[in-house]
Amino acid sequence: MFSLGDLYQQVIIDHNKAPRNFGKLEPCTHDAEGYNPLCGDQLHVYLNINDDEIIESISFEGQGCSISTASASLMTDALKGRSVAEFNRLFAAFHHMATADLSDAPDEEVLGKLAVLSGVKEFPSRIKCATLCWHTLKSAIEHAADPAITE
Ligand code: ZN
Repeated sequence: MFSLGDLYQQVIIDHNKAPRNFGKLEPCTHDAEGYNPLCGDQLHVYLNINDDEIIESISFEGQGCSISTASASLMTDALKGRSVAEFNRLFAAFHHMATADLSDAPDEEVLGKLAVLSGVKEFPSRIKCATLCWHTLKSAIEHAADPAITE
């Protein structure tokens, strides 16, 4: 069954039980919907990006498994107050962490708390649960008209 290190599991349980930044953001400058058909996870992300390209506020709504909810909660926490350039850097680091070799340790210096999700690598079917919120946010930032669907 699905098991992670105790500490990692604790963080995921905590974020799943009490997701941070959960709810609709009104008004918002950017938003997008995402869907992971493999698991049925649905997400809607909202954010306000100011003229200096700083993410001033960010939130999400949706229904999904514990991994997708915890990942969105951790992501929104990590990105509040960060720039769009930093989002791109974190997105690349997170994506690498989720898809790299098991032996490849996550870059905790860049990822911080997000590194708790590195355990999903052992469960390939759950990787898309963890990356859905990132793909959804990317389409929101890029103002894509179509919902994000994990490929
Ligand atoms: Zn899921």
